[in-house]
Amino acid sequence: MQVAIALGGNIGDTEGLFRRAVQMLGEGGLQGVRVSRTIVSTPVDCVPGTPEFHNAALTGAWQGTALELLALTQRIERSLGRPAVHSSRESRTMDLDILLFGEESLALPELVIPHPRMIQRRFVLEPLAEIAPDWHVPPEGTTVAELLRKLLLARPGDKEMV
Ligand code: AMP
Repeated sequence: MQVAIALGGNIGDTEGLFRRAVQMLGEGGLQGVRVSRTIVSTPVDCVPGTPEFHNAALTGAWQGTALELLALTQRIERSLGRPAVHSSRESRTMDLDILLFGEESLALPELVIPHPRMIQRRFVLEPLAEIAPDWHVPPEGTTVAELLRKLLLARPGDKEMV
């Protein structure tokens, strides 16, 4: 199954941590990984002094289930320094979100795919559009490139971080 994952972080050597996460995803079984460039955005709605956020996206082929992929991404987050219990608004070394799992939709207590907030987040859609513009995002099947175009039209100055 072709999958897409978002990478985010704002503490430490983010580029080095992203490279390490990509390597660990490969070691965990993700094949044919393609990684976007990293974009940097100003924190919004965070405590003063919060460092800039770095975001990238990657795609790859995964043979296991979506929950097995979630277990791998959570193991990588923890081993790269993110505490298992954390708030979604605090600084983090590594945040891995599963964005897309083929063209499937999933709504499990611990895993919702497509990632519920991906279509509102420029910092997710922009890197993803670089590597997977033609991916049809369920449920409507709108492509990633089209979702990004719509977001930019609706909110040209968007710096939404939530
Ligand atoms: P966050 O703080 O943003 O890293 O959210 C982590 C929590 O979101 C975990 O408890 C996951 O089980 C849950 N979650 C739900 N859907 C997803 C997804 N598509 N990718 C990653 N985590 C998810």
